[in-house]
Amino acid sequence: MPDLAPYAAREEISRGRQYQEKSPDYRSEYQRDRDRIIHSAAFRRLEYKTQVFVNHEGDMFRTRLTHSIEVAQIGRTIARALWLNEDLTEAICLAHDLGHTPFGHAGQDILNECMKPFGGFEHNLQSLRVVDLLEERYADFPGLNLTFETREGILKHCSRKNAKILGDIGQRFLNNQQPGLEAQIANIADEIAYNNHDVDDGLRSGLINLHQLEEIDIFREQFHYVRKTWPGLHGRRVSHEVVRRMINKLVTDLVTTSKQKIAHYHPDSINDIRNAGEPMITLGEDTKAQHLQLKQFLHRELYQHHRVEKMTSLAKEKVRELFAEYMQRPGLLPEDVQLRIKQASGRGASVEAARITADYIAGMTDRFAIAECERVRQSVD
Ligand code: MG
Repeated sequence: MPDLAPYAAREEISRGRQYQEKSPDYRSEYQRDRDRIIHSAAFRRLEYKTQVFVNHEGDMFRTRLTHSIEVAQIGRTIARALWLNEDLTEAICLAHDLGHTPFGHAGQDILNECMKPFGGFEHNLQSLRVVDLLEERYADFPGLNLTFETREGILKHCSRKNAKILGDIGQRFLNNQQPGLEAQIANIADEIAYNNHDVDDGLRSGLINLHQLEEIDIFREQFHYVRKTWPGLHGRRVSHEVVRRMINKLVTDLVTTSKQKIAHYHPDSINDIRNAGEPMITLGEDTKAQHLQLKQFLHRELYQHHRVEKMTSLAKEKVRELFAEYMQRPGLLPEDVQLRIKQASGRGASVEAARITADYIAGMTDRFAIAECERVRQSVD
C-alpha cells in the first residue's frame, strides 16, 4: 500500500474488533474485513437483488452486486488519489448495501411500514446487523467481527433513537461527529455510481432518452463534447462515452475539492477528521449542483416512471404478504428461523419475532421472494 496521509485510517490505531483476534499474518486488518465481506452469504445474494430494475427484467441491468463493485472501483480510485486507506474504502463500499431487501427501495419501504409497530426497518442499520449478527461463518463469534472503522462506514445514517441503543458505533450521531474519510468516500462513491449507471440502464431500458437528458447540464456538457469530437459515432458508444466522462468529471472534481478542504482544515489525525464540523470529502459547489440536478431528474423520470412503479408495486405486495403470513403462521418459516423465534420468549417476544421475520425477508433475493410468495399462497389451509 502506498504511503498514507496522517489522517487516514490505519490499522495500528484502529478501534479494533468486538471480539479480539490474532492479527492476520500477511494481510492488513481492513483487507481481512474486505475478504470476510466477499465470502459472506449476504454478499453473494446481492447478485439477485434489484438495484432499479427487478432482476428478471433483463440480464444487462445493474444488480446490487454489480452496483457494489462499481462503488468499490470509484471509491478505491478516490482513496488512492487522496492517500487514504484503499483497503478500508473497498471494504465499506462492498458492504454498504448488504442489508438491502429484495426489490430495491420499494421492498425496504414496505418492510419499514410492516415493522412500524416493532421499531421500523432501515437498510443501513440492517447492513450493520448482517455483519454484526446475522452472518454465521465463524466458530468464535456471530457475524463477521469487522473492525470499528468498517462498521462505522457501513452505518451511514442512523436515528438518534437507534444511535442510543447501538453504543460506540452510534455515538457519532449523538455527538454530531463525522466518520473517517474512507467512510465519507464510500458515501459519495455510492451516489456517483448509481446516478451514472442509472443513466446507462435507463437509456438501455428505453424509459428515458437522450433528448430528455440534454436538459441536464452535466450530461449535455459531455454529450456535446462527444458529438463534436466524434461526429460519426452512434449507438451505445455515444452514451457510454458520455457516462464515463461524467464519472471522470465528478471524481476529478471530488478529488480536487476534497484536497482543498483537507488543506484548509489541516487535520493531523483521524480524530481531527471526526471532530471537524463538516465532511471533507465533497464536490465543489457547481459540480454538486449539477450532480443534484441529475439525481433529481432520475427520481422524476426513471424511479417514478410508471413502468418502474408498476414493477415495484407488485413487489411491495409480495413483501407485505410474506410478512403478514409469517407473523400469523410462523410454521411457514424455515426451522432454524422458527427456533430463534421460540427462543425469544417473555417480554418483548413479539417484537423479537417480528425482527427475526424481517431479517429473514430482508435476506431474500428477488427471485426467492417471488417463489416463496407462491409457496405461501399455495399452503393456505
Ligand atoms: Mg448503494
